[in-house]
Amino acid sequence: MERMTTTATTKYEVVVGLEVHVQIKTQSKMFCGCSSAYFDAEPNSHVCPVCMGMPGMLPVINRRAVEATVLTGLALGCTIPPRSKFDRKNYPYPDLMKGYQISQYDQPLCLGGGLQVEADLGARFIRLERIHLEEDTARLLHREEAHGEGYSLLDVNRSGVPLMEIVSQPDIRSAAEAGVYLRMLRQTLRYIEVSDADMEKGSFRCDANVSLRPVGQEEYGTKVEVKNMNSFRAVQRAIETEIDRQTAILHAGGRIEQETRGYIDATGETASQRSKEQAHDYRYFPEPDLPPIAIAAEHVEALRATLPELPDARRARLEAQYSLAFADAHLLTETRTEAEAFEEAAVLVNVGITDAAAQQARTRAVAHWVIGDVARLRRAEGGGERDWSEIALTPSHIAELVTLTESGTITGTTAKEVLDIVFATGQSPVAIVAERGLGQVRDDAEIDRVASEVIAANPKAVSDYQGGKPSAIQFLVGQVMRQLRGRADANTAAEALRRHLDG
Ligand SMILES: [Zn+2]
Repeated sequence: MERMTTTATTKYEVVVGLEVHVQIKTQSKMFCGCSSAYFDAEPNSHVCPVCMGMPGMLPVINRRAVEATVLTGLALGCTIPPRSKFDRKNYPYPDLMKGYQISQYDQPLCLGGGLQVEADLGARFIRLERIHLEEDTARLLHREEAHGEGYSLLDVNRSGVPLMEIVSQPDIRSAAEAGVYLRMLRQTLRYIEVSDADMEKGSFRCDANVSLRPVGQEEYGTKVEVKNMNSFRAVQRAIETEIDRQTAILHAGGRIEQETRGYIDATGETASQRSKEQAHDYRYFPEPDLPPIAIAAEHVEALRATLPELPDARRARLEAQYSLAFADAHLLTETRTEAEAFEEAAVLVNVGITDAAAQQARTRAVAHWVIGDVARLRRAEGGGERDWSEIALTPSHIAELVTLTESGTITGTTAKEVLDIVFATGQSPVAIVAERGLGQVRDDAEIDRVASEVIAANPKAVSDYQGGKPSAIQFLVGQVMRQLRGRADANTAAEALRRHLDG
């Protein structure tokens, strides 16, 4: 074979594969009865001889964890082989007390599948290699004394929490594509409710294998595994940094070392941690304490029947069924609860409405509340985004709000004010409007009276208007609206002002 020579003019193709570890939402751990809700728990309070790795303890497979993994596989288009088994992955790091991790080697629960993504390189299909099930490890907390001596603390609570590893093929071609793939993966996992998939809490963790190869070459280059990213932004940045680092080495005529590098959030750089293990370093062998898993085709089909409508399908249906713009439908289906809240409100708001155009207008109004002001309110409080289950506002409140606005009972300005109150109190919009007298002022005499007051109080704006600056009327309209606390129609207010000023 001819030696490949690289120079500064050689163009490289980015090759990225992602390994995502996802904690499965189960009551108990993977192989024992301890609670897997360890987050925020007192260290070493969720432990037993099994998950502490005492000799002679026998693991028992958590059926729910197996089903959640299969369900994930079905959502991602994987095939589910009829037989699967657990293996021991041996390694000496102290985060596993047994000296090995129960994982899956050559017969994982799910094979193939993939995700259709759309990023900077257009629409592309990222294939999955496999999804396997394993146990999470204990947490090591590294500490240092004031005089400089270091030590480690061990919290075994996380050890044995069910963990699935979703391994992509090296099909990703840019950092942006990796970001979109991860977001879609998280969205799917949340839709099917198998995991919180929360990167900050460690229930969704990603390692990236990054390599470069000259454009046109089929053979993969030497890959570097990048770890320690704790946000989507960090993953993208780590991949970009690694691409730049490898490109510089290759352009300088150097060669890439196969290694594991840690991402440092503060600097955005990666640093070498260790040379990467090969699979044979782990001396995998079948787990002798667990029987193989046989999954009947009927069982797989029964699980498939429980799959909810997935994000892409739901987005497409919402677009068609409610005549929504792609971007709106996309936002409305970001989470399952968001989509459900929208659809519930869209049904309620159209009860008794027969005219198709009126129905569409009302549905669109619901959509705009949900992705506009409501989304803003859900975000504003406490940094993170609160789910619909955590707020006082309900879909029926939104339907009421739209009905009040569409019927002219309240103005758009008042509706926003009412929404804030509903959000804070959980009171219904109808009750708020009645109690606080927020109904639209339709009494022309009252609007007329306020208009003349405003004219009397603002001689400067009046002379500007009459001196040939028609835009000065906007200021006066604003004053009328302020006096009426937004409860009048702005056009009616403008007409009343003109009657006085022009007449
Ligand atoms: Zn346990």
